[in-house]
Amino acid sequence: MDIKLHNTLTGTTEVFQPLQSGAVSMYHCGPTVYDRAHVGNLRSYVFADTLRRVCEYNGYKVHQVINITDVGHLSSDADDGEDKMTKALNRLGKPLSLAAMREVGTTYFEAFKNDLGALNIEPPQEFPRATDTIDDDVNIIKILVDKGYAYRTTDGLYFDIAKFPAYGKLGGIKLSEQRDGARVQINAEKRQPADFALWKLHPTLGWDSPWGKGFPGWHIECSAMSRKYLGQPFDIHTGGIDHIPTHHNNEIAQSEAAFGMPLARYWLHNAFITMPNGKMAKSLGNSLTLSALADMSISPLAFRYWLLTAHYRSPVQMSLEAIRAAQQALIRLLAVASERSAAGGQIHSAYRQKFLSAVNDDLNLPQAVAILWELIKDRQVSDADTYATMLDFDRVLGLDLAHMPRIAAEDIPLEIKALADARQEARLSKDWTKADALRLEIESRGFNVKDTAEGYDVRPR
Ligand code: AMP
Ligand code: ZN
Repeated sequence: MDIKLHNTLTGTTEVFQPLQSGAVSMYHCGPTVYDRAHVGNLRSYVFADTLRRVCEYNGYKVHQVINITDVGHLSSDADDGEDKMTKALNRLGKPLSLAAMREVGTTYFEAFKNDLGALNIEPPQEFPRATDTIDDDVNIIKILVDKGYAYRTTDGLYFDIAKFPAYGKLGGIKLSEQRDGARVQINAEKRQPADFALWKLHPTLGWDSPWGKGFPGWHIECSAMSRKYLGQPFDIHTGGIDHIPTHHNNEIAQSEAAFGMPLARYWLHNAFITMPNGKMAKSLGNSLTLSALADMSISPLAFRYWLLTAHYRSPVQMSLEAIRAAQQALIRLLAVASERSAAGGQIHSAYRQKFLSAVNDDLNLPQAVAILWELIKDRQVSDADTYATMLDFDRVLGLDLAHMPRIAAEDIPLEIKALADARQEARLSKDWTKADALRLEIESRGFNVKDTAEGYDVRPR
C-alpha cells in the first residue's frame, strides 16, 4: 500500500516514492544541546520516530540521522544574538573555551538520549555532532566561495541569496516581506536582509578556517551532516514548523547552490505544542521537561500516547489534564494487554488493513489509536488474536504494550498512591471498614492493591 505524506515543498500530500527501492533515508534537525530539551522539542522526535516506524511497518529499511547542534546556533534562527552554547557556558559559570563547550554539549546530549529512551524512541543510526563535522562545513563553504555565492563582511562570510533565485521556495516565503530588522537584526554590511552567515569570525574562540578563526553558521552544519551520512539528495527531511522560513530555506539554498541538485525530496514539518498563553520557549520560562512531568507522576509514555492522539500537523495546547487522561487510557491499554496476553494469536487482517490505511494516510495516528480501541472492544476477536494484533500495532505506536512494568511501578497516579497510603494507615489502626472502602475505591479507578511484607503493591488492573 502507498504511503502518502504532506510535502511542505509542494504544499500537497503526495505518494511517497523513495530514491532507492525498499530504502528510506531521513534527516531530522536535532536539538541544540545547551539545556534540557522541553516537551515541545520532544514532539519533533516522537514525530520523527513515528515516521520511521511507519516506514519500517511498510517494509522499508530506514537510515536515520538526528544531528546534535553543539555550536553555531545563535539566539535567533537568523544571525543575531549570542551563540546558544556560549550562553550556556555563561549560565553555568564555565570558561569560554571549546573544551568547556564540548563538555556542556555532552551533558545535554546524554540527557537528550535519556529522554528519547524514556519515550521509547528508537535511536537513529547516526547521531553526528556539529563539532565533529567542522571540516565538512568548511569544504562546502569553499565551494560556495568558488562559485561566487558567498561574500565577506567584517564579522564573517555570508550567503548572497540574490544569487539563488529560488530562495524561499520551501513554504512559499516572500522575500518582499523580509524587511531588515523584522526577521534579522540590521547589519549594514549585508547585501540583503535575509543573507545568512556561513562562517562567523571570533577573535578567540573557534576553529581555524581559510577566512579566519571562528565557527560555522548553524544552517551549514545541517547541509554538511545530512550530505555526509545520507548523500544528496536524500528522501525525507523533517523539523518543527518554525524551521520553514529560515533554517530550512537556508539549508536548501546553500546545498543546492553548491552541488546543483536538490537537498531532499520530501520536507515534513510538525506543528508546535503551545502553552495556554502562546509559545512554549525556554527563554519565556514556561517550558516543561519530561522530568517535570515525572515529578507530577506523568509517565513519558503517557506523554507519547497524548501526542499520538493529535495529528502531527495540528498544533496542540499543553494541558496536564489531557495528559493525565491519556495516562489513564494508557494504563487501561496496558491492563488489556496483560489480561489478554496469550501465545499463538494471529494478527487480525481486517483490523491490520484499517490500521495500515490510517498510518499511511500522512501518519493519521489519532485514527490508528481509535482503531486499536475498536479492536479491543470487539469481543468477536479472540484474546490471543487481539493481543497479537495489539503488539503488531505497537510497532508503530511505540507504547511498549508488551512490557507492563514500565508504567506500573513508578507511574501510578498520585491520587491512587494517596488512596493506597490512606488504606495502609487504616489497616495499621485496624480500621477494617475504612481499609475495605479504600480498596474498593482504588479498584473502581482501575488499580489493584496487594499487601506485601514491605507494605503494599499497586498495579493497574
Ligand atoms: P532546537 O533545539 O531549538 O533547535 O529545537 C529542536 C526541535 O524542536 C526543532 O525541530 C524545533 O522546530 C522543535 N520545536 C521547538 N519548540 C517546539 C514546540 N513548542 N513544539 C514542537 N516542536 C518544537
Ligand atoms: Zn537543521
